[in-house]
Amino acid sequence: MTSQPADIPADVRQDGYFRNIRNAVTSIVSGMLLTLRYCFSRSVTIHYPFERIAFSPRYRGIHEFEADKCIACDQCVKACPVDCIYIEKSAPRKIDKATGKAAGGELLRFAIDYQKCMFCALCTEPCPTACIHMGKNHDLSSFTRKDMIVEFTELDKKGQRTPLPLYMQKNLHIPWIAREKQRIESGTLATQEADIPSV
Ligand code: SF4
Ligand code: SF4
Repeated sequence: MTSQPADIPADVRQDGYFRNIRNAVTSIVSGMLLTLRYCFSRSVTIHYPFERIAFSPRYRGIHEFEADKCIACDQCVKACPVDCIYIEKSAPRKIDKATGKAAGGELLRFAIDYQKCMFCALCTEPCPTACIHMGKNHDLSSFTRKDMIVEFTELDKKGQRTPLPLYMQKNLHIPWIAREKQRIESGTLATQEADIPSV
């Protein structure tokens, strides 16, 4: 028990005692009210992947690439601040006005190293044929570093514009993931209607 200085009057000592009790009760009640308010407010996290994430219209995810429109002009390569785009061609290419597709030499390689890519979208801006887009997929987990280098020309041979993330293979029982896998396999671009509806 702490002793009070003898020169403090009894009524002042009593005031302090009750003030401490009042402060303690007030702070507990206000803390509990705050906690209670959060119990009924909308959650800011979602149960991913069972619930779908809503992206902003300008979200920048794994690229989507239209190889048939790429003229291998290297504008995207020059714009990339981290030099992570690799292009090889057999001869110059240009757009055939009749078909709207690139013709001439063969696009031997178009790859992006996602170990380096910082999703700045600077590669999409100078593209004269608008064939490279920022997509909506954000997950490129893999078991090897080599798998982080996406060979878009190889994907194009399968009709895909973007890689299929690993999590999709494991979660096909979830309806939105099955639909998204179907979209990627059919070569449909997400960027034109990329805005995923709010959850
Ligand atoms: S998003 Fe940026 S870092 Fe990634 S490939 Fe394009 S320019 Fe390079
Ligand atoms: S800027 Fe466009 S057309 Fe030129 S190489 Fe890059 S993706 Fe192909």
